[in-house]
Amino acid sequence: MQSDMNTHPDDTHIICIDVGGTKVRGACVSISPLTLHDIPRIDHVQTVPSDALQGGERLYRRVVALIHDLIDQCSCLIDGIAVDTTGGTDPHTGVVVMKSTLLPGWGGTDLRCDLEHEFSLPVVTLGDVQAHALGEARWGAARGDRCALVVGVGTGLGGALIVDGHVLLGAHGVAGEIGHMFHPAAIKRRCSCGRYGHIESIAAGGAIAEIYQGLSKQDPGFNTLLDAQEVARRAEGGEGHAISVIQSAGKALGEVLATCSHMFDPERIILTGSVSEAGPIWRHALEEGYRSQLLVSSADVPLCDARLGSYAPLYGAAAFFADVHMR
Ligand SMILES: [Zn+2]
Repeated sequence: MQSDMNTHPDDTHIICIDVGGTKVRGACVSISPLTLHDIPRIDHVQTVPSDALQGGERLYRRVVALIHDLIDQCSCLIDGIAVDTTGGTDPHTGVVVMKSTLLPGWGGTDLRCDLEHEFSLPVVTLGDVQAHALGEARWGAARGDRCALVVGVGTGLGGALIVDGHVLLGAHGVAGEIGHMFHPAAIKRRCSCGRYGHIESIAAGGAIAEIYQGLSKQDPGFNTLLDAQEVARRAEGGEGHAISVIQSAGKALGEVLATCSHMFDPERIILTGSVSEAGPIWRHALEEGYRSQLLVSSADVPLCDARLGSYAPLYGAAAFFADVHMR
């Protein structure tokens, strides 16, 4: 256990929870009103598996247990709770918006109301990529940008838009959800949302692994357990099916990002998530697809890497809490 002795009495201490398809991460994040430009202090980081297939109620109990655990570990007084989640939340009600096969039974969870009742603390909620984007906007790759699009390519595919240093939530909390944009190459693929033709179903990590498995079923050494990172490794090693899948995924995502660039006119597009580290073959195809569709007026909008790493959503969730409750 780390000590909280160095905190200032004016600091705001927030229990931040990041709920993803495979893991739930939590920490105590401390923001100082005196040094808002400095990256916040983060203590007691804990990661537990989501065990998503066990259902939404089980996942909620897991989140509650993690928050109790973190409050017990912190010697400081906790000011509130900030939760970001895959699927996004309604900005007015705090209810999880998207029903997804990545987190079955989680959509519809009354996250803010239930957690406020459970802990008698103020609770804010937002989408996981929105939190990631806000972290990058305050302390990372989008710092100082008037407009930036952050794209998370992991098991699923999501996005969030930063406008004037704040995350755009939209009317229903799902602004920037680019994973469900149409791409013709995905027309026969069923998306995690249940519809057909969405970019997530060909460009996200889960899709990359699934499409590769479909192509290489007959091959000796076929393995149904491999993930997108392994497909990327095989592509870099020169394996034909893997190269084809990685190139198609990168090119299609690049083409969609060009459309996003025209729609939002950001200063930059920031890539994060495990697939964003898939290697040169994916990156080259991504840039090629992007440049092939980009208008001249958007030619200087770069595709950049995120800077804050896997803690970015925790920082962003804390920033969101501060925006709502420290004014
Ligand atoms: Zn979809």
